[in-house]
Amino acid sequence: KKKIAVMTSGGDAPGMNAAVRAVARYAIHRGCDAFAVYEGYEGLVQGGDMIRQLAWGDVRGWLAEGGTLIGTARCMAFRERAGRLRAAKNLITAGVDSLIVCGGDGSLTGADLFRSDWPGLVQELEDTKAITTEQSNLYRNLTIVGLVGSIDNDMSSTDVTIGAFSSLHRICEAVDSISSTAISHSRAFVVEVMGRHCGWLAVLAALATGADFVFVPERPAQVGKWQDEMCNALSAFRKEGKRKSIIIVAEGAIDSELNHISAEDIKKLLSERVHLDTRVTTLGHVQRGGIPCAYDRMLATLQGVDAVDAVLASTPETPSPMIAINGNKINRKPLMEAVKLTHKVADAIEKKDFASAMDLRDPEFAD
Ligand code: ATP
Repeated sequence: KKKIAVMTSGGDAPGMNAAVRAVARYAIHRGCDAFAVYEGYEGLVQGGDMIRQLAWGDVRGWLAEGGTLIGTARCMAFRERAGRLRAAKNLITAGVDSLIVCGGDGSLTGADLFRSDWPGLVQELEDTKAITTEQSNLYRNLTIVGLVGSIDNDMSSTDVTIGAFSSLHRICEAVDSISSTAISHSRAFVVEVMGRHCGWLAVLAALATGADFVFVPERPAQVGKWQDEMCNALSAFRKEGKRKSIIIVAEGAIDSELNHISAEDIKKLLSERVHLDTRVTTLGHVQRGGIPCAYDRMLATLQGVDAVDAVLASTPETPSPMIAINGNKINRKPLMEAVKLTHKVADAIEKKDFASAMDLRDPEFAD
């Protein structure tokens, strides 16, 4: 009988609760015991009642809840081996042999590292009599499965991460609200959206709201050219009778020399050169909060179910899987391969190899 714990880690994302619900209920359905680790890796390192068994009814109503009800945290202690040793003891004491982590690339890297450390950690716990020989024999291997929860949609090898579409909806609602006041006053608005080094939210929001211009990290604005390009485009739209101008800027927007382009830079330009009454709106954490949209509820549920199936199918030899979605099909990908590709995107951008950055983001569509 597998004892499967689920935790959320890193930044929260709408749909994480739906993932926890799906894991807990499907694990119980498959005859396993389900557990929650509260407060991410912090809870794993602290142990005690931070690791609690979940009953079917404990996750009732969680499909529609925003954020993560089991909490999340950034935990320095887990980055050290000593922290992971405590975490191993706590998991074994709680009787857990499998861990499903829902988080970003950092959280999934930590999980995979924990798995590779595991035999050594268990041996050390046995040698220091922190656990019994019987426990040591029972818990020789730790199964790890990753679910990607992130509003940024910045993980390679999967089309969509849990939370991204909810965040996109929130951005669209905000831009719709801004549009009506922009039209009234004939103003320009520069809207800064989240996404860190990924432009997915910015591009999709620009598409879905019909924005006039968009700035993203993967297709940097050409140094010395973008200013004219943007001002000319916006002047032309105004001449055609448009009463509002919307510019979406990703928080990680850069130019081709890797200089950050801020919403304030754009505002200054539009005010001085196009003489538009320009305002900046930084959407901030409203993009992360609120109820998950239907797509995220569905994605989290299908992937949560597959994460439990992946636990049940795992062997000590198989690399830790990450549950992905590609072309509308739930897929398992080697977790560390996906993390490595994700890091290569940032490396490619740093080397100004922007074409590769786009391909690495989505290797299946590289051609
Ligand atoms: P987000 O995309 O929202 O930032 P993330 O999972 O990438 O999510 P991080 O802050 O990078 O967020 O990681 C969350 C936690 O995972 C860290 O606080 C730490 O406890 C653990 N972690 C991250 N990287 C490692 C690592 N290399 N080794 C061990 N633990 C790690």
